[in-house]
Amino acid sequence: MSDTPDNLVRRTPWPQSISRAVVTPLQPSVVYASPDPDTLDAQYEGREHGYTYSREGHPNASVLAAKIDALETGAEGGFVTASGMAAVTATMLGLLDTGDHIIGGDQLYGRSLRMLTQDLPRLGITATLADPTDAAAIEAAITPKTRLILVEVVSNPTLRVADMEAIAEIAKRRGLILVVDNTFTTPRAYRAFEHGADVVIHSVTKLLAGHSDAMLGYVCARSPEHRTAIEGTIVTLGLTPSPYDCWMAERGLMSFHLRYDRAEENAAALADHIAGLQGLRQVLYPGRPDHPDHNRAGALLGPRFGNMVSFVLDGGRAEANALSRAMPNMAFAPTLGDIGTTLSHAASSSHRGLTEEGRAKLGISEGFFRVSVGVEDIELLKAEFTRGFAAL
Ligand SMILES: *Cc1c(COP(=O)(O)O)cnc(C)c1O
Repeated sequence: MSDTPDNLVRRTPWPQSISRAVVTPLQPSVVYASPDPDTLDAQYEGREHGYTYSREGHPNASVLAAKIDALETGAEGGFVTASGMAAVTATMLGLLDTGDHIIGGDQLYGRSLRMLTQDLPRLGITATLADPTDAAAIEAAITPKTRLILVEVVSNPTLRVADMEAIAEIAKRRGLILVVDNTFTTPRAYRAFEHGADVVIHSVTKLLAGHSDAMLGYVCARSPEHRTAIEGTIVTLGLTPSPYDCWMAERGLMSFHLRYDRAEENAAALADHIAGLQGLRQVLYPGRPDHPDHNRAGALLGPRFGNMVSFVLDGGRAEANALSRAMPNMAFAPTLGDIGTTLSHAASSSHRGLTEEGRAKLGISEGFFRVSVGVEDIELLKAEFTRGFAAL
C-alpha cells in the first residue's frame, strides 16, 4: 500500500484469503488494468484472456453465459445482452446486410414484429411474415434474397406450436439461417440446436432469470463466423448487459429447473380448472387434447407443455375489467416467466398496436387473457380464478 498522505483513491488492495467466496462475486468494474502494453496486445490478439473494458465483456456476463450455454445443449460461446431485444438486434444487425430479406413468424413477440416490419426496412432489410404452423407458407415466402428465418416455437399469446421440424428442414435445404427465439419454451422443453437451429435467442428477463428484477437477453450461434459477427455488433452498438443484472440473473437461474417444473405442473392443473368455470369460451394449453396443436406439441415438446395458459372469456372489455379487478393478488402485468403468476390482456398491452380486425385474425378478442403461471400453491391459484370468474 502506498504511504503517501492521501491514499484513498484506488490504492487499497483486495484482502488475500486462503478460502474462497462461495457466491460469484459481483464485479461492477468498467475498466480492467493490464500490466503493460505487451500484455494488452496479447489480450486483444487472443493469446491471453483478460478483460479490458466492460462493454467488450465482463466476468459476470461470462459466468451467466456459460450457465445458459450449459442448458442449451449444443451451445458454445453464447453472449448475454442487455435485454432480449438486444439479442434480437445483435442477431439481425450482425448477420444481415442491406438488400437481404428475412422471414418471420406472424405471431412473434411484439417488438420483434416491429423490428421486422418498421426498423429493419429503414436499413434496406425487408421481411415477410408467415404462419409458422404452416411450413408451406414459410417456404412460399422465400425469395432469392432471403437469408434468415426467425421463429418462436410457441406463439404469444395464442400458444400455437410452430412446425419446427419442417421449418428446420426447409432452412437447411434452402441454405437459410434458422434463428429460434426459445424464450417461451426454454431448454427445459426444447433444445433448438438439436433440432437444426443456427442461432438461439432468449429473453433471459423471463423464465431463466425468473424474478422480474433483471432485464437481459442471450444469443448463441452455432458457427464461429456468426458468433464473431454477433459479438462485434453487441460491442459496437453497446448491447452489453450490466454486471448487476447478470449477477441477479445468475441467482435466479440456479432455481430455474425447480421453478419451471413446478410452474408447468401448476399450469396443466390450472388449465383444467379454468376449463370448468362458468363464463369461459375457450381455454388454450398445448397439453390439453382440445388445443389445436396438441399432437404437434406432444411430438415436439414431449410432456413439457410449459407454464403459459391462455383463455377467452365470453364477453368483452367489461368482463375483462371485472375479472382483473376480482383477482387483486394476481399481478395484472405485461410480462411472463415470473416466479409468481401474472395475468396479461393482449388487446390492452402486447397487441394494442393492431386494429380490432388485425387482432381478430390472430384469434385475440377483448376477452382474451394470457396467464404466466408461477410456483404458488395450486389450491391458491384455483381459488383465485374461481373468484375472478364468479365476478363475471
Ligand atoms: C420478452 C420477449 C422478448 C424481448 O425480451 P426483453 O428482455 O423484454 O427485451 C423477445 N422474445 C420473446 C418471445 C419475449 O417473450
